Amino acid sequence: MVGIVIVSHSAKLAEGVRELALQMVQGDVKSAIAAGMDDAENPFGTDVMQVYEAIESVYSDSGVVVLMDLGSAVMSAEMALEFLPEDRRSKVKLCEAPLVEGTIAAMVQASAGADIEQVMAEARGALGAKAAQLSLDISHLEVVTNEAKPGASEVQLTVKNPMGLHARPAAKFVATACRFASKISVRNVTASSVPVNAKSINQVITLSVRQGQMIAISADGSDATDALAALQALVEANFGEEVHQPKQVATPNIVTSGKLSGIPASKGIAIGPVILYHAAVPQVQTQYAENSETEWEQLQTAIQTAQDQIQNLRQKAVAQAGEANAAIFDAHLLYLEDPAILAATRKGIFEGNLSAAAAWKAAIDEIVAAYETLEDAYLQARSADVTDVSRRVLQLLAGEVSTAIDLKAPAILIATDLSPSETAQLDLTQVLGICTVSGSTTSHSAILARSLGIPAVMGVDAQLLRLENGTVIALDGETGQVWVEPDADLLRELQGKRESLEALRRELAEVAQQPAVTRDGHQIRVMANVCGLADAKSALAAGAEGVGLLRSEFLYLDKAIAPTEEEQVQIYEAIAESLAPHPLIIRTLDIGGDKPVSYLNLGQEANPFLGWRGIRLLLDYPDLLITQLRAILRVSHRHPIKVMFPMISCVREIQAAKEILATAAAQLRSTGIPFNQAMEVGMMVEVPAAVVMADQLAAEVDFFSIGTNDLSQYVMAADRTNPKVARLADAFEPAVLWMIAQTIAAAHHAGIWVGVCGELASSPLAVPVLLGLGVDELSVSVPVISTVKAAISRLTMGEAQAIAGEVLRLNSAPAVKDYVAGELG
Ligand code: PEP
Ligand code: MG
Repeated sequence: MVGIVIVSHSAKLAEGVRELALQMVQGDVKSAIAAGMDDAENPFGTDVMQVYEAIESVYSDSGVVVLMDLGSAVMSAEMALEFLPEDRRSKVKLCEAPLVEGTIAAMVQASAGADIEQVMAEARGALGAKAAQLSLDISHLEVVTNEAKPGASEVQLTVKNPMGLHARPAAKFVATACRFASKISVRNVTASSVPVNAKSINQVITLSVRQGQMIAISADGSDATDALAALQALVEANFGEEVHQPKQVATPNIVTSGKLSGIPASKGIAIGPVILYHAAVPQVQTQYAENSETEWEQLQTAIQTAQDQIQNLRQKAVAQAGEANAAIFDAHLLYLEDPAILAATRKGIFEGNLSAAAAWKAAIDEIVAAYETLEDAYLQARSADVTDVSRRVLQLLAGEVSTAIDLKAPAILIATDLSPSETAQLDLTQVLGICTVSGSTTSHSAILARSLGIPAVMGVDAQLLRLENGTVIALDGETGQVWVEPDADLLRELQGKRESLEALRRELAEVAQQPAVTRDGHQIRVMANVCGLADAKSALAAGAEGVGLLRSEFLYLDKAIAPTEEEQVQIYEAIAESLAPHPLIIRTLDIGGDKPVSYLNLGQEANPFLGWRGIRLLLDYPDLLITQLRAILRVSHRHPIKVMFPMISCVREIQAAKEILATAAAQLRSTGIPFNQAMEVGMMVEVPAAVVMADQLAAEVDFFSIGTNDLSQYVMAADRTNPKVARLADAFEPAVLWMIAQTIAAAHHAGIWVGVCGELASSPLAVPVLLGLGVDELSVSVPVISTVKAAISRLTMGEAQAIAGEVLRLNSAPAVKDYVAGELG
């Protein structure tokens, strides 16, 4: 077998290229790397002896092909040849092919047992596949001709594997063809392509065979029959990939009645017809464009962002429902890479002078039309996937905030997922309830649903999506139950429950406008968690004494660019104005985790909640933070504003954040812009490390705000968006309560106040515990303000302290809840 050597200035690059190429090959390839220098200060470079040793390590009489990046890599390889004995030197070929494409092609061909000339030729032709994909003229590139003559034996087969003949199946196809002496060619019958050499990975990939397309394989030679049989078997075995049966769609399993259950996400009963929500395709605003290059670049950026978003969704889907249910996202990712779509879009942009959006839409419309003419119901249904992916890209190109959901009549919204911004834009007069497949109690959509007072159940089985529009369902957001076509008895029971909840709500509305004072005269501030002006206004109407947490990230999500300082000043000003004279605590941007922001190119992370989020990210984007802090400071001049930083894990982070705040203040001062020099500065305590270091952190700030949503997930090591572990990420766990107790003690010892703004504060059962532990402020979701105030007014501090002391001795969240419920009667 021909050996392959990769020579590069960078060891990481060479390793990456080798790893990528090995993904494509069948069995082993003898390959070696000569890359980088053994010097931590100057790791880039090539070394002649390394190259020589690499060649020797893979040498055989079949020869060695050496691929290099550039400059001194080529020189080192040339010099290494000088060290080889004469007889070996003639069998080692330096290949001018591009490093990545050439190595992949060479490895595939070498692993298929090709001789050194074939491996060289294939590597040299490696740019052909890319050029064809980009619709470039490839006539100058070397192609290997080994095609069967017309009239040779032929089989026609439909490619059924989801990804079509993409790189890996293509590599298997080539490897199989290479086992035979016959000349073998293959063509894409559906796309009316010319036949190409079946032993060339480059040429097979350029056929762009997609799922459902038909290929014709011809073989000509002594072993033609065996070759065709082997290739047919490979195609019929779907190249070893799993294929979803069309049957599933052709005879859909429509749920007509029965019960589903999910995670209780927002209290309340909803009864009504369902509407399945698909986000709408945005309008293409600009048809023609001046600068094709810019349009093409914008498209690439949008595609990259769409890929990141889909990867994110995929990760969540895998976590919630396993690999099989995430397959849809794999298909979506493939559509984004589809050479046919990209080539058509490119043509539209460069030859038709179309805008990126117009060219992309035209290319997609063509594909969708083609899918819709197919007879196979499963393949027809794929047009919905293409449209979905296309919408995502168009939305990114348009820089649109995700589409507002426009319901014509009251209905329960069912969806795979609702983004926080989609939830925030719901028309409260029409949305009776929400039921989604993904999400959990503390996912941001659930938090929003609660703050909007919409009953919601999340994490429901995916068969929910098979309900026909108009099917009547009922859901109980308190228990997480969902009934399809509930019978008359059940409806009566649920309506009864809904009415008593309503009556209770009215009663509580009266308590809401009074201060929250315990029976023995101890007053606790009850504030609201809000995401914008609308809920700030409802918060005040519901009895909030200010805002304890403004999740400012909602100004940044689903936008094409970050909001400007002026925009922020306007919105903060409007919120503060609506709350006057009550205080407003603005939390600086808290993104990452389950809150992606497309224009920041955050990329994919294996563990987003343990990754680059909150303050970690802000400190890496100081300009973004300065802009926000300047806006906050400017509003502090006229209103009682406080600022707090999210996700602080250590002292140096809060110090760095404060330094940036000082810079923002200095900038304003130097230009004579007024601000409150004594604005209170706080931090979220939501990372266990911050609890442990609370005494030192308390010396840095004016207040703590405990974020129990994150604190629970980090203390319990249970992802807050994963329904499978949702039960574990429970803030009532004594481990979490101990952390809260410790934080409050450290804060009070340092003479600063502490609030709780995580969802725990919104639970009436938690009220006695938090009061008893000594918390000074509760910041809760808007609909429960009155309930929390009522819970406070029923207690004395002595009772609360006794309850708090007791629950710290219990050993589980259910035990804590049972105990408190028992105590409250
Ligand atoms: C929290 O973590 O408890 C919190 C209030 O912040 P968020 O839910 O926005 O992460
Ligand atoms: Mg948090």
